[in-house]
Amino acid sequence: MEFHSFLIKYSEIAVKGKNRHLFEDKLVERMREALARLEGDFRVRKASGRIYVDCAGIFDQQDVIEALQKVFGIVWICPLVKLADLGFEDLKARVIEYLKECYGEKQLTFKVLSRRTRKNYPLTSDEICPLMGEAILEAMPNLKVNVHDPDFFVNIEIRDENINLYSILIPGPGGMPVGVGGKGMLLLSGGIDSPVAGWMISKRGLELEAVYFHAPPYTSERAKRKVEDLAELVSRYSGPIRLHIVNFTEIQLYIYETCPHDELTIIMRRLMMRIAERIAKENGCSCLITGESIGQVASQTVQSLTVTNAAVESLPVFRPVIGFDKQEIIEVAKKIETFETSILPYEDCCTIFVAKHPVTKPLLKVIEASERKLAGVDAMVEKALETREVVVIGGQK
Ligand code: ATP
Ligand code: MG
Repeated sequence: MEFHSFLIKYSEIAVKGKNRHLFEDKLVERMREALARLEGDFRVRKASGRIYVDCAGIFDQQDVIEALQKVFGIVWICPLVKLADLGFEDLKARVIEYLKECYGEKQLTFKVLSRRTRKNYPLTSDEICPLMGEAILEAMPNLKVNVHDPDFFVNIEIRDENINLYSILIPGPGGMPVGVGGKGMLLLSGGIDSPVAGWMISKRGLELEAVYFHAPPYTSERAKRKVEDLAELVSRYSGPIRLHIVNFTEIQLYIYETCPHDELTIIMRRLMMRIAERIAKENGCSCLITGESIGQVASQTVQSLTVTNAAVESLPVFRPVIGFDKQEIIEVAKKIETFETSILPYEDCCTIFVAKHPVTKPLLKVIEASERKLAGVDAMVEKALETREVVVIGGQK
C-alpha cells in the first residue's frame, strides 16, 4: 500500500507540562534532519498536538519509515490515509476498502476509535464508532469486535481540513529526541559494549561526542577505521558525533615501563577517564559514558570500577550496560547493527598491554602510589590532548 502521510506518536508521559514544546520542537527538528538525507520532498508539521509527515515527489516509503525508526522520541509511526471531507456513507465505503487492503481475509479482532475536532460533522464520535463497527462487521465476516484487547484499532479522525484514517502502527525507537538532554562524552572503543552504551544514552535525549584512545603502531589504522565506522553507525540515531582520536602510545609505554604490570589496565583506564573528562568539559559535555559492565573483565569488578571512577573529578559517569549480561548487550548491538562491525578482529589498545593476571581488587591507595611514579605523565597528557585528531562523523556539525 502507498502512503503519502504519516502520523507520528510520541510518549505522552515525556511531554507533560512545560517541557512539551521543547520536546516537540526538537523532535520535529530531528525528523527533518533524518528525512533531509532521503530523496523526496518532505514536510514535517505540528498541528493541534500532533506531528505529521507529508511526502511528495519521488520517494521510497520504506526508506522514510526506516529513517523515522531511527529518530528517538518517536513511539509509533502511523501510515495515514487522508480522505476528503466525506459524508458518512462514503466514509464507510472507504474505511472498508482500506481494511480489506490491510487485513484481507485474516481472522482478527478490532475496535473503532473516533476523534472529532470538526464539531459540525453530522455524527458525533460516540455515534460514529458503533455505526462504523457494524458496517465493518457486515462487510468483513472474518473480523470480530473486541473492545478490551483488539488485534487492531480503526482510527478515524474528523478534522477541519480532512478525515484521517489509520490502523497500522509501526514501532519507533522510543526514547527522547536527541538534544533535549544536553550532550555526553562516550569513551568509544572498538568493542561491542561502548557503541551500545552510547546508543542507550543518546536514546534518553543526549547528543554524543566520543573519544577513542589509539596506540599506533601497536594498534592499526584499521582498528581506528573500525571505531570511526562504529561512530558512523551510532550517528544514524544520535546525529553527528565529534570523535576525538587521542594518541595514547607514549602514555601507555610509560605506564608499562614504570608501574607493576598487574596494575596496567586499571592505571590506563584511569588516565583515559582523566583525559576524557578534560575533553568533555572543554566541549560542553555534562557526563562521561562507558560500556563497562560489572564483572565482565578484571577491570570491571566493583572494586576496579570504584578505582577507575575515582580518577574522574566532577562529571558523572554513566554506564548504561552495567547490569547487562554480554548476551543482552549483543542483542542490542545486533538490533542497532553495530555487532558485525564490533566483532571484526582488529586489536584495540587494551589487548596489547594487558597483564596475564591483572588485579581484580585494586585499592585506590596502592594504585595512587604507583601513579606517583609517573612524574612525566602530566606533560604527556597535555601533549596527547594537543595532538588529538578531531573528526566529525555522520554529517557536518
Ligand atoms: P567494549 O566492548 O566497548 O570495547 P570491553 O568489554 O572491551 O568494552 P574494556 O575494554 O574493558 O571493555 O573497556 C571498558 C570501557 O572502557 C569500554 O566500553 C569503553 O567505554 C572504554 N574504553 C576501553 N578502551 C577504550 C579505548 N581504546 N578508547 C576509548 N574508550 C575505551
Ligand atoms: Mg574494549
